[in-house]
This record gives sequence, C-alpha cells and structure tokens, in this order.
Amino acid sequence: MTTNILFAANATRWATYEAPLRRALDAAGLSYDLSPEHAPETVDYIVYAPSQEISDFTPFKRLKAVLNLWAGVETVVNNPTLRVPLARMVDHGLTRGMVEWVTGHVLRHHLGLDAYIHGLNGRWTHNVPPLARDRRVSVLGLGELGRACAETLAGLGFDTAGWSRSARTIPNLTCLHGADGLTAALERAEILVLLLPDTPATRDILTAATLAHLPEGAVILNPGRGTLIDDAALLTALESGRVGHATLDTFRTEPLPPEHPYWAHPRVTITPHIASETRPDTASEVIAENVRRGEAGEPLLHLVDRDLGY
Ligand code: NAP
Repeated sequence: MTTNILFAANATRWATYEAPLRRALDAAGLSYDLSPEHAPETVDYIVYAPSQEISDFTPFKRLKAVLNLWAGVETVVNNPTLRVPLARMVDHGLTRGMVEWVTGHVLRHHLGLDAYIHGLNGRWTHNVPPLARDRRVSVLGLGELGRACAETLAGLGFDTAGWSRSARTIPNLTCLHGADGLTAALERAEILVLLLPDTPATRDILTAATLAHLPEGAVILNPGRGTLIDDAALLTALESGRVGHATLDTFRTEPLPPEHPYWAHPRVTITPHIASETRPDTASEVIAENVRRGEAGEPLLHLVDRDLGY
C-alpha cells in the first residue's frame, strides 16, 4: 500500500527538499506518494516546518506521525490537536553547522580577534591570548547540539563544562545538572553558550539573578532560543560590564525589530538565526528512516517528550 507523505513547508523548501527526499525514500525501499498537497484524510506522515499553515491536525484522520524539519519544536509541541507521535530533527549536517558557528564565535572572543579586525591604529600592543586550556567555557544544554559543541571545544583544549536537566557523564567534560549545577556552570563561564530548547523550564533562564553569577566581562553566545534570555536584564548586565559581549543568533521576535536596542549596542553581535540549519541531504535520510520505521512498526527516532516540551 502507498504511504502518503505531505510536505508541509513553503514552496522554496519544497524545491530544495523534493529531490533529496525522493532519493532517501527510494533508498529506504518505500512505496510512497510525496507531495505538498494531499487531502488531509489520506495523509500518513507530515514533514512539518512549524512556520507553515497547519495548526489544526484534526482533519488528518489516519496520520501516523509528524516529522519536524527543525530541531526546535516549541511552536508545535503543545498543539492539543496533535495526537500522534512528534519527532524532532536530529541531522548530522545541522549539528556540524552549529559546531562550526559556536567554535568560530568562541575563538573570536578567546583570541580577542575584534581588536585586530577593527585595527590597532599604529599601536604595537603585545597582548598574547591565553591558551584554550586556561579559558573556561560553559555550555547550557548537552543534547545533540550542545554536546557536540562542548566536545569540540574540549577537543581544542578549552576547560569545558556542560549543564543539562538529567545527570550525564561525558569524557573530558565537567558535567553539571540541577539548580546548583547551573550556578556552578555560570560562575565559571568566561564564555557561556546557550543550547537549551525553549520550554517552560528554560524560558528566562538568564535573568538579573542568574546573570549576576557570571564572572565580570563574561561573553554570552545564544544560538539556542531568544526566550532563554530576559533582554532587559542582559542590556543592564552589558551596561554594568558584568557581560562583556553578547553574540545573539536567536531572539524573542524574529526578524529582530529595527528599533530593538540590540541592533545599535556596541557590544552585541547579531547573526540573523543562521547559526545552523537542517541540511536537505542529511535531513532527508533521517525523515526517510523514520517513515520506514513507522511503516515497519518500529519505534521512531528522536521522539519529543510532550510533557517536557523537547
Ligand atoms: P536536545 O538534543 O533536545 O537537547 C536539549 C538539551 O537541553 C539536553 O541536554 C537537555 O537535558 C537540556 N535541557 C532541557 N531542559 C532543561 C532544563 N530544564 N534544565 C537543564 N537542561 C535542560 O536539543 P538540541 O538538538 O541540542 O537543540 C537545542 C536547541 O537548539 C533547539 O531546541 C533549538 O532551540 C536550538 N537550535 C537553534 C538553531 C539555530 O540556528 N540557532 C538550530 C537548531 C537548533 P537532558 O540532556 O537532561 O535531556
């Protein structure tokens, strides 16, 4: 029997994903009908980009699963009409992109590259940067992305700690968890990387109270979600010097409104949610494998815990 797969994302995505998805579904040996248009009552799987139009899943009477195209699921996880399993995207290409963005921005701040990029104006200053082993980095979130970033930074020699909800043991990383673990992660963080999902438990995790634990002049990188940070508290911490620089890829409102104070702040770097993205070739293989598993009655990969919200 043919498996009907609805590609529910915009036309640009369809143009990018159609060929690699067909290749991956063919390679998985599936008999399928993949299309951006299917009558809802005939759909078995939805490949889903959260920004697209489906908000009511009720008409999808024979739906077996929703396969999210992105890693973050905050816009769909609480949808009460969604009564089938929800899988999020774990994609090798997405992970590698995040590792490269985080490593690049950590090295920028570690090496003090801004001084040379802006120019020394004839001043022969001899500020040799410390070695990575003498730089403490903390990564909040030790999931697919946070762990890969933390392991890469540790591999470069950075004194790296990671913080997660549950206790973890990862070679070469100081693993912390719980409320005390968060304080410890912040207190040591010369560079702090946020790679937590947006859930009720992580929202506003950086407030005036938690920012106060950071060492003076700490650098924050936020490729996680804008909701992790209380923006007013961060701006105050930047003014006081508690935070030396913030490099932000994600924001509460995207695109970031032109009047937002972050745009003009001399110690804020904005990247427009480009830290990483799902890569069609590798992501298609993950989607095809999940459809194969669904059809074979096997458990799906990367299922979201609807109670935890990630
Ligand atoms: P993941 O595999 O689900 O990992 C989430 C991590 O956060 C886990 O280590 C988890 O702890 C931890 N966590 C969750 N709730 C927590 C809490 N209340 N307290 C402490 N730790 C908590 O997610 P991922 O694939 O690494 O992605 C992380 C996030 O990155 C996504 O949700 C998305 O928001 C963001 N993202 C951004 C971009 C971009 O371009 N900017 C691209 C992709 C993803 P446990 O290990 O104990 O479960």
